[in-house]
Amino acid sequence: MMLFTILLTSLLLAPGPSFEENFEDATLRLDYTMCGDASHTDIYLADMQKTGPWAGRRSKLDQPLLRGDCQIALKADDGTVLYANSFSTLFREWQQTAEAKDRPRAYENCIQVPFPKKPVTAELTVTDIHGKVTASLRHRVDPEDILIRKAKPGLNHVRTILESASAANAIDLVVLSEGYTATQEDKFFADASRLVKDSLFATAPYTALKDKFNIRAVFAPSQDEGPSIPHEGKWNTTAANSHYDTFYSERYLTSSSMRKIYDQLGTVPFEHVIVLVNTPIYGGGGIFNSVTLATCDHPSSGIVFVHEFGHAFAGLADEYAYDEFEPMYSPDTEPWEPNITTLKDFGSKWADMLPGGTPVPTPPSHDMPYFEVRRNWDNLDAALKKELTGKLGVFEGAGNSSKGVYRPVQECRMRMNECESFCPVCQRAIARTIDYYTR
Ligand SMILES: [Zn+2]
Repeated sequence: MMLFTILLTSLLLAPGPSFEENFEDATLRLDYTMCGDASHTDIYLADMQKTGPWAGRRSKLDQPLLRGDCQIALKADDGTVLYANSFSTLFREWQQTAEAKDRPRAYENCIQVPFPKKPVTAELTVTDIHGKVTASLRHRVDPEDILIRKAKPGLNHVRTILESASAANAIDLVVLSEGYTATQEDKFFADASRLVKDSLFATAPYTALKDKFNIRAVFAPSQDEGPSIPHEGKWNTTAANSHYDTFYSERYLTSSSMRKIYDQLGTVPFEHVIVLVNTPIYGGGGIFNSVTLATCDHPSSGIVFVHEFGHAFAGLADEYAYDEFEPMYSPDTEPWEPNITTLKDFGSKWADMLPGGTPVPTPPSHDMPYFEVRRNWDNLDAALKKELTGKLGVFEGAGNSSKGVYRPVQECRMRMNECESFCPVCQRAIARTIDYYTR
């Protein structure tokens, strides 16, 4: 009995799978195609590659920080989870659009996991807005498989913008050029450096945690200058195939060519990729643990980048409520995003930060329509602004739904560009993400 108790205790206190025992210092890139329509998902394995050194976390390997819309796990033969992570995809977003109701489509996804030393089973699952698994794929990965392509360093020029620690001990971001021609290399490196230093590291809580990041920039020349603009009939040939009009929304700038983006990065170690698009036109996009697209020459480029990177890096949800698409959240399920709630399990969100006596839901401080607040932002009374951005509550309207989804403050950077900063809940979520990757 004593022996059993000791065994049980040691199991409960187990630190999780060892990186050194199970993985090489290398990255396995798994390319999947997700296809289907609004109500159906299929997943297929497209390719496997061994790329550069492993830049991701080396502890808590079996514990993803957030649930995400999709989950990847590597399992040993006895079923032990050796590595797990979560992410979202453009495909899952597209499933909420009107197009997905009558036209099936396929989307590319590239997932990086540490390179296993022994054969493992990879398991990919996709969940719906109720957190229910709607599709899954299991397949073997044998590290000796001759058809795992060995990537080589590419011809693209790589420059270090910020180096704080080794790839193993820092959060590694890479900025990829998009729509910069061969003669615009200097402009790209200047834009990339400016975007990160003047925008990301000028925003709390990134400013105080700058020394947790490494940032590299990769210059891949494009044949044409600027991204494609379908609503102007303009299609350009570029390094990352980016375009506006994603889901027929003019300002939504994304790329469906994830494999091309990852190919451009060769063996550069990275955890998050930022595609920097050479354009003065407003737009951007950010998908959790997948990709961020930012522009360089619009007056709001830096602000939009920090918002979009909030989606991609910390899994933050939009706090605005335009009701543009089908509802992305269900009252029967607590969203996995840290900065919104359906009140299904509010205790897991910012309940611990809420001042005693705060009514839930919380009535707004004013009855000004959203667009009026934005238009008058610069002229609002300083005390009111402070209340709108800093006073915590549970305000209805978030996650693109005006009903049934709640946000922590009335105005936050995840709700509108005019806002100078992230709300306290978003700031805590970003700081927790940084801590998770680096501790
Ligand atoms: Zn917020």
